[in-house]
Amino acid sequence: MSQEEYKRRARHPRLDYAHRVEYAAMGWANQIGHAEFPPGELNKILADRVPSNNAVNNHVRKAKGWGFIEVESTRRCLVLSMYHFQKGIGDRTCDEHGIRPVKRFTP
Ligand SMILES: [Zn+2]
Repeated sequence: MSQEEYKRRARHPRLDYAHRVEYAAMGWANQIGHAEFPPGELNKILADRVPSNNAVNNHVRKAKGWGFIEVESTRRCLVLSMYHFQKGIGDRTCDEHGIRPVKRFTP
C-alpha cells in the first residue's frame, strides 16, 4: 500500500484515533520508520477542528498501548517498528530523537 493511502486514512474522520495515529506514522515515515511533524501538524492531521496537544498525546499513548507504534513515539515524531516498516529510499535522520546519519565504514 502506498504512503499516500495511509496519509488519506490518517485524516479519515470515522476511524479510531489510535488507528489514525498509526496511519500517520506509516504515511509520513522516513527510511528508518520515523515520522516527524512540525509543531501542531499532527493535531491538524487528526482533526478539522484542531484538538489540544493533550488530546493528541492521549491518542498517541493509546496507539502505543495497542502496539501500533513504538514507545519512543511522541506527537512530534511517530516511530514504527523496523520489523513492520521497510522503505528503500528517504531520510535516515530524526531531529526529535537526535538521530543523525551514520558514517559508513570504508575499509
Ligand atoms: Zn523520531
